Amino acid sequence: MHDCIFCRIAAGEIPAKVVFEDDDVLAFEDLNPQTPVHTLLIPKQHFESIGDDIPEALLGKLFSKVREVARIKGVDERGFRVIVNSGEDGRQTVHHLHIHILGGATMPIGMGPAD
Ligand code: 5GP
Ligand code: ZN
Repeated sequence: MHDCIFCRIAAGEIPAKVVFEDDDVLAFEDLNPQTPVHTLLIPKQHFESIGDDIPEALLGKLFSKVREVARIKGVDERGFRVIVNSGEDGRQTVHHLHIHILGGATMPIGMGPAD
């Protein structure tokens, strides 16, 4: 296994607060939450980013599990924000594909560039 923190979480080598898990995907709490609900959803298999060549079935599964995570975290009715940072301009810091699921507060307006 290469040296990837989320691969190590998926393998159970690094502890995480697991929210949901099946054979293909894992959802766990972000170590440094930005909102009251801040859960990360990853494929267990390593892909660098959403820009990789990812099987459509896995992409479909990931996005269908966003709904499951939102339900488990109790933000399905009020709503939530989904963010997938990619690459340098996207400010991706962990280079294992992950979906941020943010909720429990009203998100700021806008998604424009940093100053
Ligand atoms: P990115 O900036 O790449 O989109 O998001 C990476 C996220 O991973 C950040 O929100 C950061 O707090 C989270 N993170 C980094 N290392 C760990 C870790 O070891 N455990 C957990 N649970 N989250 C982490
Ligand atoms: Zn990885």
